[in-house]
Amino acid sequence: MFESLVSFVREQYRTRDFIPLHAPVFDGNEQAYVAQTIESTFVSSVGKFVDRFEQDMQVYTGSPKAVATVNGTAALHIALLLAGVKPGERVITQSLTFVATCNAIAYCGAEPVFVDVDRSTLGMSAVKLEAWLDEVAYLDADGTCRLKAGQHVLRACLPMHTFGHPADLDGLVDVCARWGLVLVEDAAESLGSLYKGRHTGTFGAMGTLSFNGNKVITTGGGGMLLAGEALGARAKHLTTTAKQPHPYEYVHDEVGYNYRLPNLNAALGCAQLESLDGFIASKRDLASRYAQTLKESELMFVSEPEGCRSNYWLNAVICENRDRRDALLDYTNRREVMTRPIWRLMNTLPAYAHCLCADLSNAQWLEQRVVNLPSSVLPRFAA
Ligand SMILES: *Cc1c(COP(=O)(O)O)cnc(C)c1O
Repeated sequence: MFESLVSFVREQYRTRDFIPLHAPVFDGNEQAYVAQTIESTFVSSVGKFVDRFEQDMQVYTGSPKAVATVNGTAALHIALLLAGVKPGERVITQSLTFVATCNAIAYCGAEPVFVDVDRSTLGMSAVKLEAWLDEVAYLDADGTCRLKAGQHVLRACLPMHTFGHPADLDGLVDVCARWGLVLVEDAAESLGSLYKGRHTGTFGAMGTLSFNGNKVITTGGGGMLLAGEALGARAKHLTTTAKQPHPYEYVHDEVGYNYRLPNLNAALGCAQLESLDGFIASKRDLASRYAQTLKESELMFVSEPEGCRSNYWLNAVICENRDRRDALLDYTNRREVMTRPIWRLMNTLPAYAHCLCADLSNAQWLEQRVVNLPSSVLPRFAA
């Protein structure tokens, strides 16, 4: 069985060499745009590509504002600060996520609280979130959501669109509105994914993207904060050292951050964004072939949730049990076809082991079974 999977993957990528999980593709204007920044000498914090990258992303996602940042974690940090997250407060997130989601909460001096995911979306379960809130939380006289035990403020809710598959956004928007929680979407993995025809990252008060080297498009390192006009303007100010516009004076009106994306990286981003629709077409094509080839196998291919168009950033399968998962990881990696288990649950990491957890039975079940398969854009699209 695993033998036919390995030969299937080798057929797709047409190589006998090592096949990584996700490699970037630069087959458009990347060289030209990056060369332009070098020729202009504007490689750093000033230059036309940052503005263009932000505007292009606004057009692409339909977000009123898009603010480029040095990485996705920085975008998350600023989004949570603007959501009003204060030291000692709590932010609800999923235990099944990449560590950056939790680190951004910790940077605010706040603590994550972990809720479960759905087995079908791999994203936060709105149903389990609401059931948990009913049990442990209440709305105080000001309409602020608090934990019954300890009265800690639950300020925001931070779901993540795992591997590009949109979470149950209708459900999450609803629960957050009822409970006075600011919804921030960690859309680091889901650029180009649609929920009922609308881009992930545009449903909450804010959404964040990542352009790390392994994401669907890359700027080397980079990120973006998606928001409405007012929060977008605040985000721009905070990420650019809180400097007031002035031709030569240094006027900084609060503690700001040096989180602006350099023009050099933005140039790469502008070129990558031009290729994004082609990349997603290639990735969706690969996903449907994986689904087809694995149909009668012991591996359950993870397909996009109903009503969604996933970017299929990373393809994933669910193994029968942990032993079969380990056998798959061992067999494929020995043959230079890279596969990887899903992340350890965040509540098992030393930094977050003390944090409050709801029932996590789906996350625990998935943690034992999910494996990512090679997912780079296919070579014929990169010709
Ligand atoms: C990639 C990623 C981020 C942000 O990563 P950066 O490397 O800081 O750009 C955040 N959350 C998730 C779920 C991610 O996969």
